Amino acid sequence: MTTLRVLDRDVAVSSLDRVLYPATGTTKAEVIDYYVRVAHVLLPHVAGRPVTLHRFPEGVGGPHFFQTRTPPHPPWVRTARMAYERSGKTFESPVLDDLPSLVWAGNLSTVEIHPFLGLAEAQERPLVMVFDLDPGPPAGLREACEVALRVRERLDADGLAAYAKTSGAKGIHVYVPLRDATYDATKGYAKRLAAALARETPERVVDRMTRSLRPGKVLVDWSQNDRGKSTVAPYSLRALRVPTVSMPVPWDAVERADAEELTYDPQRALDTVAAEGDRFAGVLSLSSAACPDARS
Ligand code: ATP
Ligand code: MN
Repeated sequence: MTTLRVLDRDVAVSSLDRVLYPATGTTKAEVIDYYVRVAHVLLPHVAGRPVTLHRFPEGVGGPHFFQTRTPPHPPWVRTARMAYERSGKTFESPVLDDLPSLVWAGNLSTVEIHPFLGLAEAQERPLVMVFDLDPGPPAGLREACEVALRVRERLDADGLAAYAKTSGAKGIHVYVPLRDATYDATKGYAKRLAAALARETPERVVDRMTRSLRPGKVLVDWSQNDRGKSTVAPYSLRALRVPTVSMPVPWDAVERADAEELTYDPQRALDTVAAEGDRFAGVLSLSSAACPDARS
């Protein structure tokens, strides 16, 4: 056990030399170091929101779990009461408000950080509408990019700003910042948009979750717009064989749809942030649009 001084707090850390990505030899220390370096752009997208920690205690090839209940924690790690929709049973989710809390999460071998879409104090109010574009092989990133552009076009026609990021795995996520939204409104809007795209090109897009419908097509997963669902955070690492990042990308990169250009390892993500700042800053902007259904 070691203690790291992080801002004004002592954070207990352990097994820093444990390898979390065997293929690259990336250790827990390096994972924590990445999160510290990216914190200034990551935390604004995570702070205040309940999160799920995707933990890999023995590394990315080993057993893993999505932890929604806060494990034992120092008193300064904030938690938020959440309730299961069906049973109404409650539990406490972690909230990563600051750098020490982020290091605490990293020490738990958290590789991926998955925030819910609303603030702990306003869980009925999603801050964003999300389109999770999932290509079904042989469709891949290129096809997901094509569909992302069509999603963007329709959002644009409705006066809604859209931001794209790679999932860091197979697909693309499109985020729409909103104010005063409800999950009924965002889910309903996203579902109608997905259905419209599937009607337009049924050979390319599906709007239903049924896996057998997906080969060769892109699922526009509208159902992520739910108070019980999380989406991987921008700048989060992904637990693939080698470390990748869910990286905000400009729309012209989505147009080029080049897999290499759209793949970010932690160092490239940090270099890009150093050069350009937070490409997702607009997602946090206060001038975001009113929820579509609230306007009509
Ligand atoms: P990909 O590009 O491979 O689809 P993804 O992150 O979009 O990567 P999905 O399977 O499409 O992965 O899921 C979307 C989001 O739903 C994830 O980012 C994650 O936050 C959440 N999620 C998926 N599976 C689980 C799970 N078993 N438990 C908790 N959250 C999950
Ligand atoms: Mn996805």
